[in-house]
Amino acid sequence: MEDRDYAVRLIVEGTAVVGYVARTTFLVERARKLHTTFPIATAALGRALTLASLMGIGLKENQQVTLQIRCRGPLGGLLVQANWKGEVRGYVSNPQVILPSREKGKLNVEEAVGPGSQLLVVKDLGLREPYVGSVEVQRGGIAYDLAYYFALSEQLPSACSAGVYVGKRGEVLGSGGFIIHTPQGTAQEVISVLEANIASLGEVSKRLYRGARPEELAEKLFKDLPYRLTGRENLRYHCHCSRWRAKRALLLLGEEELEDLLMREGRGEVSCPFCGKVYTFSGENLREMVNHLKNRGGSHESH
Ligand code: ZN
Repeated sequence: MEDRDYAVRLIVEGTAVVGYVARTTFLVERARKLHTTFPIATAALGRALTLASLMGIGLKENQQVTLQIRCRGPLGGLLVQANWKGEVRGYVSNPQVILPSREKGKLNVEEAVGPGSQLLVVKDLGLREPYVGSVEVQRGGIAYDLAYYFALSEQLPSACSAGVYVGKRGEVLGSGGFIIHTPQGTAQEVISVLEANIASLGEVSKRLYRGARPEELAEKLFKDLPYRLTGRENLRYHCHCSRWRAKRALLLLGEEELEDLLMREGRGEVSCPFCGKVYTFSGENLREMVNHLKNRGGSHESH
């Protein structure tokens, strides 16, 4: 079912403008169920998952992007990751935030995130060190803040939009968004056309709910411009956690902490924040890990 979510990539001929447009309704609904989010957190997480997936499909093979918000507001924190294959996952610290609406019918994501929060963008491009950029959150609605990040941190003027239409019972009825990069030097006429098109598009999530496809949104966004679709990528919520990674997380605790855990609990548990899967390690497993760390004698070899 989930592969009904997808994104299209496009370019505007004769310019350096590139765009990505996505429907993420099913993967955001999956995230909602997985994390039992209430509407505000559903919207915040859904917007971030959408934007990360749009950035993800702009990456090259084996690359990954992480968006993290250290929230000053009651949402606490938000972290999403997406890769070049259209796989995305994420979580929020407080999935059941409740706040009054400031505007009728609008979920108060801005206040839940909180202005003055920190938005971090980590791009793992397969180099030794990941690329890390960060900006102060301006509004908290996430899409605007990401556009601010692109302008400030990457000197890449961009239009970002992401929306989640939540139903009366909290279910996700429509979700999606777009990112359009208009690098410096883009002709003003092109930018003006895009601005007018964006303004007349209205709410993306409601259009998707009413059955619009990403191609149709692209048609409206790039109306009167010589655009061309250059690709299509399926999007899905996918967690790639494993027992091996869980074990590494335990090893990071260090010898003393592990020994302490062994004494107190007699076993170890690691639960994945992205998908909730629990990895259990027996006392014997823990003992082996402690011995492994002891034998290593504090050196930092890894495999
Ligand atoms: Zn997982």
